[in-house]
Amino acid sequence: MAGLVPNARSRRIEESATLAITAKAAKMKQAGFDVVSLGAGEPDFPTPAPIAKAGVRAIEQGKTRYTAAPGVPELRAAGSAWLKATFDLAYTPDEVMVCAGAKAALHMALDAVVEPGDPVLILAPYWVSYPALVTMADGKPVVVPPVPDRGFVHDAAAIDAACKQHGAKGIVVNFPNNPSGAVPNREQVQAIVDVCRTNGMWIVSDEIYGTLLYDGARHVSPASLPGGRERTLVVNGFTKSHTLTGWRTSFLAGPRPVIDACCRIQSQVLGNPCTISQEAMLEACRTPLPDDQAKRMQAFGERRDFLVKEINTIPGLRLAAPRGAFYALVDARELCRKRGIDDVVLCEQLLDQQKLAAVPGSAFAIPGFVRLSYAASMDELKKAIDRLRKFVSAS
Ligand code: PMP
Ligand code: GLU
Repeated sequence: MAGLVPNARSRRIEESATLAITAKAAKMKQAGFDVVSLGAGEPDFPTPAPIAKAGVRAIEQGKTRYTAAPGVPELRAAGSAWLKATFDLAYTPDEVMVCAGAKAALHMALDAVVEPGDPVLILAPYWVSYPALVTMADGKPVVVPPVPDRGFVHDAAAIDAACKQHGAKGIVVNFPNNPSGAVPNREQVQAIVDVCRTNGMWIVSDEIYGTLLYDGARHVSPASLPGGRERTLVVNGFTKSHTLTGWRTSFLAGPRPVIDACCRIQSQVLGNPCTISQEAMLEACRTPLPDDQAKRMQAFGERRDFLVKEINTIPGLRLAAPRGAFYALVDARELCRKRGIDDVVLCEQLLDQQKLAAVPGSAFAIPGFVRLSYAASMDELKKAIDRLRKFVSAS
């Protein structure tokens, strides 16, 4: 043997683009540069005190040992009640698994349903990790091109055609969408469910931004609609809404046989999700924090409105108001065309010349666009807009 080498599958896995850009921006900051980082989407608000305290209490009470692999029974029951109350999803506690972040839940879900070589549809623009997660489950990611002119919500006929063309076995959907902020209405979600039912496809539904909504938009889970529940695995939790980012918590819900399979996989791979974090998540389920949530949504809403107003006055850039999550997917196709560059070079130049970190749309399969996270303070966003203006006028 010439030495230890990564296998073919792991060689196909790229580093998360969002995390890579954020790491680069952090390094530049450490080196003394005044970087505005609108890369990774992580709320700038702290974890709410009652939730953090529940974690501290867990340590003080010695709740620091292994738990059951699918999570403590109280939390599975609380998750079942939370999914019902918040999204009208009917799952028994046995149909809810606690997991270590939405990423891990997606991994367990795909590992449990993908057969080797299965084509899996991913609607672009998609969150960066889906193709890698499908590949790691031995599936074949099939990207359905983005539809910016339809508010980023695919027509059911386009999904049906892609399914038939590739013989797809399943689909990963993500609404509210990262990076586009798209939130389809009930009829549009039902149409996707109907296509999946007709073609015998499963659905993995990433609903991690399910409560981050604007302008009266409502989140509808495919699992809450006729024909949806029996074919859908739902990923949800408090990562984004309550800044549980570093705590690594999530729920995975679905029909019992598949959740049982996920629990078996989790028992081999993870053991159990962090015991201390489970206590914090239990607190998040049991004690709604309406004032904290309203404060966050008001701040996100103001930032969103600010970006929409400002960006649409910058020549060569356009921004349609996102309806959910906390990302601005800026259409920079005109600017790219004028400069003869692509979105990757554009983001490199923004970072090098203006010290503004943003994620190129190519990372989400939407070239010519740039994603700005507005999970950042208004001061940072104002700086970002100043820098964008300078960049554009310096042509
Ligand atoms: N899904 C989407 C759409 C996301 O944006 C993220 C970002 N972190 C995740 C999943 C992963 O969340 P977690 O931190 O809970 O693993
Ligand atoms: N989900 C966030 C984002 O899209 C955090 C980074 C990541 O987990 O990839 O920026």
